[in-house]
Amino acid sequence: MDMLIGGKHISGDDLVDVTNPYNGDIIDTVPIAHRQTADLAISEANGAKDSLQEMSAFKVSNKLFDVCEKLKQDREDFAHLLSLEVGKPIAESLVELDRSIETLKLAAEEAKRIYGETVPLDAGLNGKGFFAFTQKVPLGVVAAITPFNYPLNLTIHKIAPAIACKNTVIVKPPTEAPLTVMKFCELLNEEFPDGVVNTVTGYGSEVGDYLVTSPDVNKISFTGSVTTGLMISQKAGMKKVTLELGGNDPLVVLADADIDNAVRGVINGAFLNAGQVCMGVKRIIVDEEIADEFGEKLVLETEKLVMGNPLDSTTTLGTLINEKAAIQVENTVNNAVEEGAKILTGGNRDGAFYQATVIDNVSQDMDLVVNETFGPVAPIIRVKGVGEAIEAANNTEYGLQAGVYTNDYYSAMKCANEIEAGTVFINKQSTFRTDNMPFGGFKNSGVGKEGIKYAVEEMTKTKLIGLNLR
Ligand code: NAD
Repeated sequence: MDMLIGGKHISGDDLVDVTNPYNGDIIDTVPIAHRQTADLAISEANGAKDSLQEMSAFKVSNKLFDVCEKLKQDREDFAHLLSLEVGKPIAESLVELDRSIETLKLAAEEAKRIYGETVPLDAGLNGKGFFAFTQKVPLGVVAAITPFNYPLNLTIHKIAPAIACKNTVIVKPPTEAPLTVMKFCELLNEEFPDGVVNTVTGYGSEVGDYLVTSPDVNKISFTGSVTTGLMISQKAGMKKVTLELGGNDPLVVLADADIDNAVRGVINGAFLNAGQVCMGVKRIIVDEEIADEFGEKLVLETEKLVMGNPLDSTTTLGTLINEKAAIQVENTVNNAVEEGAKILTGGNRDGAFYQATVIDNVSQDMDLVVNETFGPVAPIIRVKGVGEAIEAANNTEYGLQAGVYTNDYYSAMKCANEIEAGTVFINKQSTFRTDNMPFGGFKNSGVGKEGIKYAVEEMTKTKLIGLNLR
């Protein structure tokens, strides 16, 4: 598939394959963009700013609604392509499509609500006699750089609010899975003037890096790993940056919890998208009083998952993004076993597939739980009491989301107050998000928030206008 720059299809001499992780088939190829192509995209995006900013909010909103309708019509085709390039079960791809439609709709609504406020300057020393108000002004050009695991919805979480507040966009989709994003940008381009949305494909280390350092890009909205995020924040200079990074989310099960509900939380949180979710359940912190019963029940439910062809509607566990990623998960689990952890079920790899794995007796210093393990693994850490559980939950450099299972409201509020994370859910796993909520982590999990209204805040600047009426 070609890139889209200034409304034109741009190919290239160097190409990269997009491979189906399930069977190794090459689905398509995309160009490897170099500096010259990035320059062209930056120039087209800058050139299109006026045409977008001259549109009324009413028109921008209606056009976003129209794109939303088109995406709805093509829902099944998009989901099929998503499963092919990511290896996720078709049922999960359809959910990603539904969320993408919802995200667009939220942005179309938000486009009509972008305004400032009056400011009482007379509340300050010497401020009497002014009439002052603020305006929310677009930043200019937003570069959206996104990861492979939820390529479509995560990219729409950047493009849609950016356009809603009248920024033009350059999208750098994930190298492994760029196709659904590129197809979506084609839909957008049918509605908006050429250059409002542009795509550049290839390797982040080259074209992504160039977007990050260019003085003609005004904002970097990045979702991906901590390593890349840190690099971006060091290179971005004075431009605004939003970083949605990795997670190592705890699921805390206290002694009084509804164990069946907590087990459901792990199934929905640790194995979704083969465990490749930023807010996936990555550490299960269980009170030792109930740990045996919890482990037995979790194994029974885990073994019901069906690993298979992502396009088969009965499949509930697809592949990882590629075999290399599956080998990495396999090695991390094997190392934990060597250090004393015990596999209760799973633990085997077949190509890019890794079995849903429950692993007990995990200690907090094992690599498996110190770093973000991006695979279908449920590591159980045993603790005693709510105090130890909170300490374990906070024993990480990450702080994206957290889930706590308890029926005692004092414990619930103690966890909610003391766990250091952007979101704490009570009696729900961390792997839950509505697309309007403020989403974004503490500590190394990131800087800034997404969730349309919050993303708009990050993609505008506030200008104050004061009239001296004295
Ligand atoms: P990644 O950091 O390897 O890549 C993300 C994007 O950055 C890709 O498009 C890549 O090409 C680009 N990139 C790579 N090097 C770059 C550079 N030097 N400059 C600019 N861009 C560059 O991440 P990934 O492996 O695709 O995704 C997995 C990670 O993303 C996990 O850590 C996961 O937790 C995180 N993630 C976070 C969220 C969130 O909202 N917090 C959501 C999904 C995934």
